[in-house]
Amino acid sequence: MRFRNRLYAVAFIELAFAAILLGLFEFFSDLMFKPQMRIDKTKVWPMLSIPVCWEEDYPDFANEKKWAQNSVHQLLELNSDYKFGDWSKRCGAGDENAIRIAVADEWPLTDIGYRPRGSAGPTHLRLNFKFAAWAPACSSEKIGADGMSIREHCIRTIAVHEMLHALGALHEQLDPKLKERDPDCYRVYDPILICEAGDDQCGQHPVALTAYDHDSIMNYCRNGASGNFYDLPVQLSDADKVGLKALSAKSGMFE
Ligand SMILES: [Zn+2]
Repeated sequence: MRFRNRLYAVAFIELAFAAILLGLFEFFSDLMFKPQMRIDKTKVWPMLSIPVCWEEDYPDFANEKKWAQNSVHQLLELNSDYKFGDWSKRCGAGDENAIRIAVADEWPLTDIGYRPRGSAGPTHLRLNFKFAAWAPACSSEKIGADGMSIREHCIRTIAVHEMLHALGALHEQLDPKLKERDPDCYRVYDPILICEAGDDQCGQHPVALTAYDHDSIMNYCRNGASGNFYDLPVQLSDADKVGLKALSAKSGMFE
């Protein structure tokens, strides 16, 4: 009988030890592997090679097209396994599995993530190269500290931001705990007021992620609550890079 009790005791201690180990493992794996970017988990692309095409030729915007492509290459392709082709094609009717870019002097707007044939259609992305009607502050040709015009700076930053939307990323300020995490941002961008049910831009199935990232290129409050993040360097935050890698790893699982 005593032997049996001892056996139980050993089994209990071993179980307790295993539980502690498991808890520690989960704690550290959360810290190490949780992506740092808000994404809509149902909109992750099932492939890593995603062709980009233009709705029209936009011959007046040859440089602007190159700036957009170059920043997406530098910041997104070089920091992930995504490949976006050479951006040389004009979109055809059959380009369903592509990111289709239109250029218009309007609010840049992008479908969140992958939209397969038969749903709402391919993923559309809209860029502004002129900034006459929308965000006129971005139309300035004044050269900034980084040697590029404010207009080029805006084009590059917005291209990366919109491409991340096209990959499935949501605005960082939509964090449901924004009130505690960034009160100044919350006063302007209360996610509960902004997000109505069924709003694609807020994510149909947003993934609750770790640390709120004030410096994310997806955060409107990156430069305070002014909403103007265009005069900041054209760059990803460290957490953006971690999130982008995690996102591309999810796309890679389908291939
Ligand atoms: Zn956005």
